[in-house]
Amino acid sequence: MAEKGILVVVSGFSGAGKGTLMKRLMEKYDNYALSVSATTRAPRPGEEHGREYFFHTKQEFEELILQDALIEYAQYVENYYGTPKAYVEKQLNAGKDVILEIEIQGALKVKKKLPDTLLLFVTPPTAGELKNRLVNRGTETMEVIESRLRRASEEAQGMSEYDYILINDQIEECVDKMHAIIQSQHEAVKNRRDFIEKITEEIAVFEKGEEE
Ligand code: 5GP
Repeated sequence: MAEKGILVVVSGFSGAGKGTLMKRLMEKYDNYALSVSATTRAPRPGEEHGREYFFHTKQEFEELILQDALIEYAQYVENYYGTPKAYVEKQLNAGKDVILEIEIQGALKVKKKLPDTLLLFVTPPTAGELKNRLVNRGTETMEVIESRLRRASEEAQGMSEYDYILINDQIEECVDKMHAIIQSQHEAVKNRRDFIEKITEEIAVFEKGEEE
């Protein structure tokens, strides 16, 4: 049986460059599956249903909650966002490392439910840079930008709950670092229980003495 994949949560302030980072990670390395979330927020120009998000009405989203089809869900700046369960389970079982790009409330819920999850937090090097990136993206109104900056200040309180902090200064460097951190988890004891059990049993034979 293939070794199960690692579940990785990537969070970060809105404007930290997570989208670009995820895109580069997928382009550069095999073996990752990026989970596509469900949301009630409106698509931005260029976004497609099933690619960036599954866009739903509030009623449809509430139906998904009732059906227990989501690993977690959270409200973020007046919209619902949630992680579909079926895709994640399928990819993990196929040995893929699955990435959830979700905000902090959801991240902590996933960690509680599935404690072996690896939590990564992406941040720009400075607060000034964070504001610049949000303004320069030009996809949100000033009002939305301000509520996202307020939200960032709340999220900063939760950074220490994460396993690793990634400072996104040079994108390529950050992508390579993220890949190295995730791959190192395959060697973590908690992810090698099957191997440990197998070799322990095999070695136990030596205790009985080698056969002539
Ligand atoms: P955006 O509207 O900029 O695409 O996303 C807003 C926030 O929602 C981001 O911090 C993003 O990581 C988060 N998010 C996206 N999908 C999910 C999800 O499935 N669950 C949770 N909890 N947060 C999500």
